[in-house]
Amino acid sequence: MKKCDVCGTLNFKDNNYCTHCGNKFIFEHVCPYCGSINEDYANFCANCNGQINPISINDFDILFSEFNENCLLNAKISDEKYNDLLRNIFLRADFTEIHGNTIKDKILNLASIFTQCKPKSRGYERGFIFLGNYIYYDDRLDESVQIATIIHELAHYLIFSIIESLLCDIFNVKTSTTLQSFIWYFLMIPEFKIMNEYCAHTVEGRFIPYGYQNYGSFNLLVKNTSFDEDSIKTMEMFGNSFANEIIIYLEKYIGNDLRQEIKLQYKMDLKSPSYDSILMETDECFNLNDKNRMLLKILYDVFKEASNPNVICELKNIKEGIDLN
Ligand SMILES: [Zn+2]
Ligand SMILES: [Zn+2]
Ligand SMILES: [Zn+2]
Repeated sequence: MKKCDVCGTLNFKDNNYCTHCGNKFIFEHVCPYCGSINEDYANFCANCNGQINPISINDFDILFSEFNENCLLNAKISDEKYNDLLRNIFLRADFTEIHGNTIKDKILNLASIFTQCKPKSRGYERGFIFLGNYIYYDDRLDESVQIATIIHELAHYLIFSIIESLLCDIFNVKTSTTLQSFIWYFLMIPEFKIMNEYCAHTVEGRFIPYGYQNYGSFNLLVKNTSFDEDSIKTMEMFGNSFANEIIIYLEKYIGNDLRQEIKLQYKMDLKSPSYDSILMETDECFNLNDKNRMLLKILYDVFKEASNPNVICELKNIKEGIDLN
């Protein structure tokens, strides 16, 4: 038996987690590279210097343990730390050259650095599907519309990624389908959905020519909710803050040359701009620290709500869906 150093409960020797509080026990770290056994707290193998990875959460009881709840409740994220997380998400794009015969292929190639993109040619629904984190684009649409869709859905994927890295950092774990199920649940709460949609429209709008901006799905969500104007305004500012973070990075990869090619594609497709959504854009956003404080607060509230058995049932269904893909 071993005693948990957080809550004092006696646990079986082979347990990886405290059965009472969910505290992570790792008495020995086996190096994934050379097999050497390392100290509990080691980050790097004493023998070969390989990185010893954190563990992953594979069970909802563990996810919603008191220990993790406290981690989230007390979580603080400095601007520097947050910027590190962002940098890490975009890092792989720095090491990949974007190629493609057409501008749509190039944008598709960029999005594929982050997640899988799949064409479809049936039904209305297009977008970012949680079952496997795919971006779907309909290849029957004009190339310009496909470009806009891919950038829009990439923004949704990036929001997912940001929340994922944030939670991995807070819980000090690797990602897992259990953790991802919670993120999907979180992304489905109405407030966050509205802000997420505003963000994706804004990111898309940055890279397509003036006048073609479109806030369709955001407007639809707003129409179907009973939030007051002030709350909607807050969600817009929240979404705009995320959009600015994403745009700064994407501008590095969708530079001036590619933006010119996108403009040409719109001309080739002979679409006329409607100019009706340009007024939806705003400069207003929260400063990074305030935005992240708000984000952590909502994450904590939703975490508490999700730990309730009814919601865990829902999470298990989501997880099954992800695991099947
Ligand atoms: Zn314990
Ligand atoms: Zn080693
Ligand atoms: Zn969307």
